[in-house]
Order: sequence, then C-alpha cells, then structure tokens
Amino acid sequence: MSSDFDLIVLGAGSGGVAASRRAAAHGARVAIVEGSRVGGTCVIRGCVPKKLMMYAAQYGDALQEAQGYGWSVGASRFEMPRWAAAKAAETARLEGVYRKLLADGGVELFEGWGRVAGPNCVTVGERSLGARHILVATGAAPVRDSIPGIELAATSDDLLDLATLPERAAIVGGGYIAVEFAAILARLGVAVSLFYRDRLPLRGFDEDLRTRAALALQTAGVALHPGGAPRLVQPRGTQLRLTLPDGSEHDFAFVLNATGRRPNTRGLGLESVGLTLGAKGAVPVDARGHTPVAGVHAIGDATDRRNLTPVAIAEGRALADTLFGSEVSELDLELVASAVFMIPPIATIGPTESEALAAGHALKVYESDFRPMKQAFFGGAERSYMKLLVDAATERVLALHMIGADAPEIVQSLAVALTCGATKAQFDRTLAVHPTAAEEFVLMRTPARVVGASL
Ligand SMILES: Cc1cc2nc3c(=O)[nH]c(=O)nc-3n(C[C@H](O)[C@H](O)[C@H](O)COP(=O)(O)OP(=O)(O)OC[C@H]3O[C@@H](n4cnc5c(N)ncnc54)[C@H](O)[C@@H]3O)c2cc1C
Repeated sequence: MSSDFDLIVLGAGSGGVAASRRAAAHGARVAIVEGSRVGGTCVIRGCVPKKLMMYAAQYGDALQEAQGYGWSVGASRFEMPRWAAAKAAETARLEGVYRKLLADGGVELFEGWGRVAGPNCVTVGERSLGARHILVATGAAPVRDSIPGIELAATSDDLLDLATLPERAAIVGGGYIAVEFAAILARLGVAVSLFYRDRLPLRGFDEDLRTRAALALQTAGVALHPGGAPRLVQPRGTQLRLTLPDGSEHDFAFVLNATGRRPNTRGLGLESVGLTLGAKGAVPVDARGHTPVAGVHAIGDATDRRNLTPVAIAEGRALADTLFGSEVSELDLELVASAVFMIPPIATIGPTESEALAAGHALKVYESDFRPMKQAFFGGAERSYMKLLVDAATERVLALHMIGADAPEIVQSLAVALTCGATKAQFDRTLAVHPTAAEEFVLMRTPARVVGASL
C-alpha cells in the first residue's frame, strides 16, 4: 500500500499527542487515531480530574485549619454535583486545547478505534490508512479480572464520573491510585475501608514513606485492612460482598477496583504483524521505543514500563526525534520522580533505601521528621518526613523521599539537582529559603544512620 502518512499514531493520550506533534514539527505527514476522547487517561480520567478532586478534598481541611488562624467559618458542606459539573467543563476545555494543538501542529485526527491491519496499514472503521511507521500509544485500562467478581466493582474511570458520592466505600488495592482515592474520599465525608494484599500500602515505595502513609490514612479515618485483598466479590442485593482471605465478609454499596492496570492492546491486531505481546499485553520495545517488527513502535503505558504521563510524553518526543529528526534520542529512565497525591502527599526520586542497599551502596541516611510551622500554629497533628540517601563512597545524593505538604512541588525542583548528579556537599553549600519546609533538605547535617557495604 502507498504511504498516506509518514506516521500513524494509535491513541491521542499524553504520549501519542506529544509524539505526533513532534513528528509533524520535523516535517512528517502525521495522522493520529483516537477511539475515545482526545487527551487520554491523564487529562480525561486520570491525573487531572484526580488532582482536581484532591484540591476539593483539601478545602475541607483548610476550612478547619482556618479557624485556628482566626477565621470564623460558617456551616459548610461539599456538594459533589457542583464539583462534577465543574470537572466536566474543565476536562472539555482541556480536550479542546488538545484538539487545537493537534490541528495547529498539522496532525490529522481520525476519530474511531484503530487496528493494525499490516506492517504499514491501520484501519479505522471502514477506512484503511497507509504509513511508513505505526506508533502504538494506546495506553492502559483498569484490570477487571484480578479477583473473581471484581468486574462488578467501579473503576477509577467510574469514580471520577460520579455525580454523587456514596456514604461508604470499599477500595480494593494498595497502589497509588487506591491510596489517593482513599485519602481524598475520606476528606469528602465518605467512610472508606481500604483492602490490600501487603502489610502496608504502596508496595515499591520506601518503607519509611509506607508506614507514614498508612498512619496518615488511619488518622484521616480510613479503615485499613492489610492482608485483606478479597478473594471473592459477589453481588448481595444492591450491595457487593467482599470475602477476605480470613473468611470475613464485608458489604458495600460502592466498591472501587484499584487492583492495577493493563495495556490496551487486546484486539489491536499486533499479533498479525508478528509481534508477541508480554504477559499483561505489553508491547515489547527497546530503549528507543522500537518493537522487533520494522516500522512498528510503542510508547507509554502500552509498553508497561514507568506508567507516568511525563514518561509517555518524553518517550513520544524521543521516538519522533529518532524517526524524523537529525539525532537518535534515547530516554534515561534511571531517575524518574513521581508523586502520590494523597493527603499529605508523597514524592520521591531515586531508589528506596532497601533497593539502594541491595544494589551494594553504603549509605548515609539523612532524615528529618517534624511538624510544619503551619500545623503547629493551629495545633494540627500532620507531620512532614524527609529522607536523603547519600552514597557514602562518592557523597552523591542517590535519592530523596518525602511525605508532607507540598512534597511533589519540592521534589520536582530537587529532581534537577539529582539529575545533575549533585553531591551532599553541594546540598550543604546551598543556602536555605526561610521559612520553608523545603529548606530542611539543605539543612540536614548529621546522618541518622550509616548502613550497607563497608567502605
Ligand atoms: C486515576 C489515575 C491517576 C493517574 N495519576 C497520575 C499522576 O498523578 N501522574 C502521572 O504522571 N500519571 C498518572 N496516571 C497515569 C497516566 O495517566 C498515564 O501514565 C498516561 O496517561 C499514559 O499516557 P499514554 O499516552 O501512554 O496513554 P493514555 O493517556 O492512556 O492514552 C491512550 C489513548 O489511546 C486511546 N486508544 C486506546 N486504544 C485505541 C485504539 N485501538 N484506537 C484509537 N485509540 C485508542 C485511548 O482512548 C486513550 O485516549 C494516572 C492514571 C490514572 C488511571
């Protein structure tokens, strides 16, 4: 087939939009295919609406705290229908922005579900489009078969589209999406129970963050069920019954399935071009986003590596530069900062303490655990915790971990220093901005402990 396009991108989410615009900027003829709404998970049903819900939840705390600062606060309550309408308007506005970005960038949008019909051919409904390169940027979706019956539960997509909130909610899962919604819903007046497999939520995060996250959730009134991932979900009248490993049964009118996500690759036709998908349906790629099949590439959540918006965007741009620019571009995923937008939030970059030890580092561990000035003033209990992992041999700062107000904003800025390979001496030389919480990161002088391989 003749090539109508140099590149056809399947999926107009974070990665697909970034890749298509960059490729078009290099002069390529680019088409993008989207079966749902332009903007993808992050904008329509992920990062953005989730964070807008977190902001709503934080106002509840702020109203309480304001009284300690001298404000008289009248009767107040959260009205979900108003938030839902405002959220719908905002995501529609952002979708419009993304559509305009594509149009202004010279990217042709095809609306419908795309399918790979051959190495250089994509179908969208009845249409067949030819391209020199195909990019799979179809993202991921919630798994619905992790537990028998879990398909009856709501997903994060459904939760973010609720017009009214339930009085009680069960959240199944211990990852960042489960924890974020537990913290948010609890602030919005929902009685939340969190059921997860491990002894602490947030597997993969630093142990000191996990223990403090569990405590913060408990303080917010979330009932924690460690080791309590249900083995069965069944309908019980208008409710769902969760049967836990210990045999106990718990009924809820609203259950959120936050047990994980899986690449959107089923039925995409990738096997027809000779691609063997990974266990969860991930598209196999090398560091540049090339699959083993010439002319077929993949980025973002469809590849199930670091499933974060900035990673999908960076992968998309790097691939477009490699295919259509003048230089081969490869992404370094060694240091990826990320956040958990619970309340208080978590942010982190670099290995956990146990990962760094397992990698053979001798570590100087610096810690600070304090009640921020803002909390102390009104008698609030919320604390902030910061941890710095320094390689004892080279003095290089390997990782930062924080739970506390503004953690994502603070760690984002310090991520630049880590990316530049900053040493502890350079942190020490940095003058503080006072009074801030962030200054603690440049004021830690004595390690709390020195651990790991002998020097
Ligand atoms: C609740 C939630 C909260 C999150 N919060 C954060 C956060 O705070 N920070 C962060 O960095 N990340 C967050 N993420 C993850 C982030 O949203 C994803 O990592 C990111 O969107 C991945 O981008 P992508 O381009 O790979 O895929 P997506 O953004 O998922 O886009 C894929 C697009 O492809 C479309 N598509 C699928 N199949 C086809 C087909 N056959 N034909 C045409 N179109 C198709 C889909 O409709 C979708 O629009 C969150 C995710 C969720 C679910």
